[in-house]
Amino acid sequence: MEQRVVFYEDLCKGCSLCVSVCPTNVIHLAEHINVRGYRPAEVNEQHKCISCAACARICPDVVITVFREERKKAVS
Ligand code: SF4
Ligand code: SF4
Repeated sequence: MEQRVVFYEDLCKGCSLCVSVCPTNVIHLAEHINVRGYRPAEVNEQHKCISCAACARICPDVVITVFREERKKAVS
């Protein structure tokens, strides 16, 4: 499945800032613990992400990368 948002989970400190700003509520904290001892943020339902990048902008630890589809040129 297409990945719209990627979390580098070992950098995450589980602060939930990204969870609080996601307009589609697709981010949650995982059940497992990362190398830093925190529950990392993750997105399982990638198709619900609208690539708005609000999560990436607010994350203080630069954990998140958001991908957008390239706009196709109109064919005349
Ligand atoms: S890019 Fe937007 S919709 Fe996608 S996970 Fe981040 S905040 Fe949510
Ligand atoms: S804002 Fe960044 S550090 Fe905080 S939970 Fe989200 S991904 Fe992790």
